[in-house]
Amino acid sequence: MNEIYKLTLTEVVEKLKSRQISATEMISAALARIEVTEPNLKACLTILGDQALSAARKLDQDGPDPTRPLWGVPVTVKDVFCTKGIRTTAASRYLENYIPAYDAQVVIKLRQAGAVIVAKTNLDEFAMGSSTEFSAFGPTRNPWNLTKVPGGSSGGAAASVVAFQTPGALGTDTGGSIRQPATLCGCVGLKPTYGRVSRYGIVAYGSSLDQAGPLARRVRDCASLLSVIAGYDDRDATSSLHQTDDYTTAQPVTLRGFKLGLPQELWNIKLDPDIEDALKNALKILEETGVELRSVNLPHLKYSVAAYYILATAEASTNLARYDGVRYGHRSNNPQDLTELYMASRSEALGPEVRRRILLGTFALSAGYYDTYYKKAAQVRRLIRDDYYQALTDCDLLITPVSSLLAWDFGSFIQDPLTLYQLDLMTLPVNLAGLPALALPVTLGKTSGLPVGLQLIGRPFDEINIISAGLALEELFPPLR
Ligand code: GLN
Repeated sequence: MNEIYKLTLTEVVEKLKSRQISATEMISAALARIEVTEPNLKACLTILGDQALSAARKLDQDGPDPTRPLWGVPVTVKDVFCTKGIRTTAASRYLENYIPAYDAQVVIKLRQAGAVIVAKTNLDEFAMGSSTEFSAFGPTRNPWNLTKVPGGSSGGAAASVVAFQTPGALGTDTGGSIRQPATLCGCVGLKPTYGRVSRYGIVAYGSSLDQAGPLARRVRDCASLLSVIAGYDDRDATSSLHQTDDYTTAQPVTLRGFKLGLPQELWNIKLDPDIEDALKNALKILEETGVELRSVNLPHLKYSVAAYYILATAEASTNLARYDGVRYGHRSNNPQDLTELYMASRSEALGPEVRRRILLGTFALSAGYYDTYYKKAAQVRRLIRDDYYQALTDCDLLITPVSSLLAWDFGSFIQDPLTLYQLDLMTLPVNLAGLPALALPVTLGKTSGLPVGLQLIGRPFDEINIISAGLALEELFPPLR
């Protein structure tokens, strides 16, 4: 049992419950694994060694508790989840020394379930990006090839799970930030329906798009994490009263006769040859298994990247107005007056991508441009949502690629933000539509040896169906080794 860090979350839960391993052993194993892998990986911004160990000892003293489904399980959370007494940076210089006075709702729920947070993971500053290269504290590396990006913005979470630091992690997804890094690193990532999980205590980026969700090496492990974090919270007015399911009871769907819709607008896009090859093959296998593949259309999809980057930056510009050098976080030394305090504090401590987005968003909301940009984008968003609803009317789920590129070399798009934005085309429309989606690894690319993944998209609050289909697909496409 010297490799217990390699166990899946479901296996860890079983072994802890039957006392084959203690919480202290499990947490120590995770911390030891973090210590070995971090010098190369750089997935963690804060490691909670002593704190995690004393939490584990306490759990062992009290003994396993059947009402706590994640009793003794080591997890990480992306460094946008507020953690009481533990610094929460959002990978920004601005919040480098910010210590929240409260826990995010999902952190409370994880702790209540008996999980132990061992580290807070790296991301693009304020979750704005797709590679973790915009982290103010340096990028995370892809565990399959250290010269490649892990994706983003939850790149630290994905890399950490794939490198066996912990069996599960929480990330956030505003336009793909759970699903894309999961795919580029080769693990499973689930973005719940907007409103399924409380956003209370999450450093806000685009409030009408942000959603927290799990990453893990297995579909069932994501289901266990979702069961813990899902549900209404009266401190998040956008959280939903819609009843949650017990996602842990999901069973693989029968693939014979299962209807998967293929949005033509996404399947006609030029993909990396390795991805194209792997996904064509995957579709063939699905068809041979009896899945009914149907062409569907999303006519307004071509406007989605433009609409998203107006709405997300507009929301970001208002959300980030709170970083004014007065209330908390970075404050400039010796400003001449109040205006200079605001300006200097912000420009000293916010990175170039974040500043670009604040400028874009402020412009889109400004008098005279609001109707042309923000209002128009909000109208387009509705059309995109209707497209997805329509496409889902006679399919069980939609199936699409997650990314048109494999994990790329560091620096590839740093000077080219518009190309980077375009790369979100497969994931961000799902956030505009508010729908749940699962990213699932399929295989390693033939020539690159890098992970390729698929995305399943479902109806609102139909996570159980996505998970059930994911379980069935996982039998066809076993986890990557
Ligand atoms: N890449 C997208 C963006 O930069 C999505 C990020 C996210 O989901 N947090 O906005």
